[in-house]
Amino acid sequence: ETVETAAARSEALQALHRVFGYEAFRGEQEAVVEHVVAGGDAVVLMPTGAGKSLCYQIPALVRPGTGVVVSPLIALMQDQVTALRALGVRAGFINSTQDFDERRVVEAEFLAGELDLLYLAPERLRLDATLELLSRGKISLFAIDEAHCVSQWGHDFRPDYLMLSVLGERWPDVPRIALTATATRATHREITERLGLEGARHFVASFDRPNIQYRIVPKADPKKQLLNFLREEHAGDAGIVYCLSRNSVEKTAEFLTRNGIEAVPYHAGLDAATRAEHQARFLREDGLVVVATIAFGMGIDKPDVRFVAHLDLPKSVEGYYQETGRAGRDGLPSTAWMAYGLNDVIQQRKLIQLGEGDEAFRRRASQHLDAMLALCETVQCRRAQLLVYFGQDPDSPSCGNCDTCLDPPETWDGTVAAQKVLSTVVRLHRERGQKFGAVQITDILLGRRTAKVIQFDHDQLSVFGIGQELGEAEWRGVVRQLLAQGLLAVEGEYGTLVLTEASGAVLRGDRKVPLRRDPKKPAASRSGGGA
Ligand code: ADP
Ligand code: ZN
Repeated sequence: ETVETAAARSEALQALHRVFGYEAFRGEQEAVVEHVVAGGDAVVLMPTGAGKSLCYQIPALVRPGTGVVVSPLIALMQDQVTALRALGVRAGFINSTQDFDERRVVEAEFLAGELDLLYLAPERLRLDATLELLSRGKISLFAIDEAHCVSQWGHDFRPDYLMLSVLGERWPDVPRIALTATATRATHREITERLGLEGARHFVASFDRPNIQYRIVPKADPKKQLLNFLREEHAGDAGIVYCLSRNSVEKTAEFLTRNGIEAVPYHAGLDAATRAEHQARFLREDGLVVVATIAFGMGIDKPDVRFVAHLDLPKSVEGYYQETGRAGRDGLPSTAWMAYGLNDVIQQRKLIQLGEGDEAFRRRASQHLDAMLALCETVQCRRAQLLVYFGQDPDSPSCGNCDTCLDPPETWDGTVAAQKVLSTVVRLHRERGQKFGAVQITDILLGRRTAKVIQFDHDQLSVFGIGQELGEAEWRGVVRQLLAQGLLAVEGEYGTLVLTEASGAVLRGDRKVPLRRDPKKPAASRSGGGA
C-alpha cells in the first residue's frame, strides 16, 4: 500500500465518522470508495437500502472539486440537498423546479469551487449551457444514480440517460460511478455498454434480503385478507400497502382505519401538503400504515418498516423487489405479503394491450409481466427464483423463509382441466363466433344456467357442465394459471379469452399442463400452522 492510498483511506474513514457519524463502512462500500477516490470508474449494483449514496458522497468529499450526481428523482433532490447541508456538506442542485435566480446562485457556487456535491437532472445535460457550465468548474467525479434508466429493455427507461455517454467522452479523466439496485445480467451489460464503462471495476453486492419473508397468497377478499394478516402478524407495526389505483388506495386506507388500524393514503392525486404530512407522519410515528400507489417509497428511508403488502400485482419483478425491499432495512424479521388472483392477470394483460407504446414496448412489458407471474405461480422457493432472476446463484435451493418453503404447494396434472377450458373457448369461437371472459367460461363448465348463459343459449353447447369435478375457485385458478403460462390470452377491453399459439399442443394432447394447487381456504397468513 502506498502512502497516498493509506492517506486517502484514513480521509475517507474520517469523513464517514465526522460528517455522517457512522462507525464503519458496510459491505462493498469501502472497496468502492477506495477505488473511486483513487480515480477509477465503477459500476455498483447494490440492493435498495444497502447504502449506495455513500459510495459517491465520500469520494466527492475526499477528492478535490465537485462531485456531479445525475439523478432522475427530481422530487427528492431538494430533500437530499437539505439533508446533506444539515450535515455540513456543501451541496446544491439544478433542476426544472428552480427559478432563474436560484439556479444562478448554485452555478456561482459551483464555479467558485464551493460545492462538494452538485445534483443534476439528466435532461439538463441535453443543454449546451449545462455542459458549458460543467467545463468551467472543477469536477471530482460523476455519479450516475439509478443507472438502469439507461436500459431500453428495463422497466424504467429514460431517453435522457442515453446522453450520459457524453460525460466519459468530454471528461475522460474524471472518474465515473454508475449505481443501481437493478441487477439483471441484461441491465448490467447495457449500463456498461451504453455508458462506456467497459474499463470500470464492477461491484456486485448480494441481492438476498434474508430477513424478508416472501409470501404470495391467492386473492379472495383482499381487504379482509390484509386485515387478518395485519392483526395476526403485524399489529402495531409500521408498513406500506401498495394498490394500483388511487381509488383503491383511498378505500383500503378507510377500511383499515374503520377496523382499528391507523392508516393514511398516499397517491399523486392528493395535494402536496397532505402527501408531505402523511410521509412525515410515517417517518416519525411508530406504527403507522401508509396505503399508497407506487409513487410512495422512492428515497424513503425508514429502517423499521415491518411489512410491505401488495393488493395488486406489480408490473415487473424489478418493481416487486424494489417495493418489498423497503421492508426490514434494519435487518429484523419482516414480511413481504401479496394477494394475487385471476383478475390481476387479466387487468395487467389488458393494460399492456390497450396501453400506449409501440409493439416492441408491449412485447417488453409482456416479458416483464411474465416473469412476475412466474414468480407468483412457482412451486419452488420464491427467494431462489428472485435471486436467479437477478443473476445471482442462491446459496440453497430452498431458503426456509418463504411461503413455498414453509408450506410447499402441491402440483397436479391439470392437462384435462386445461383442455376443457381451451375447448370451451374454441367452441364458442368456432361454432358461435363469440368470445367471452373468465366468468362465462367458468359458468359454462360448471353447468350453471345463469341469465347470461340462457341469453346466449350456452346450455346447448356440448361442453356445458363438463367441469363439475372442480369448484368455481378452482376453475378460476386453472384459468389464471393458463393465462400466466401463456396458454390463454386476453383480448380487448372486456378481457375476453382467446387461444394462443401454444394452446394447440395442449388441445391435441401433445403437452402436459402441471398446475399448482391453491390452498383450499385462502388463508391470510401462512397456512398449515407451524412456523
Ligand atoms: P440505497 O441508495 O442503496 O438505497 P442509501 O444510500 O439511501 O441506500 O442508504 C440507506 C441507509 O443506510 C441510509 O439511512 C444510510 O444513511 C444508511 N447507511 C449507509 N451506509 C451506512 C454505514 N456505513 N453505516 C451506517 N448506516 C449507513
Ligand atoms: Zn424459500
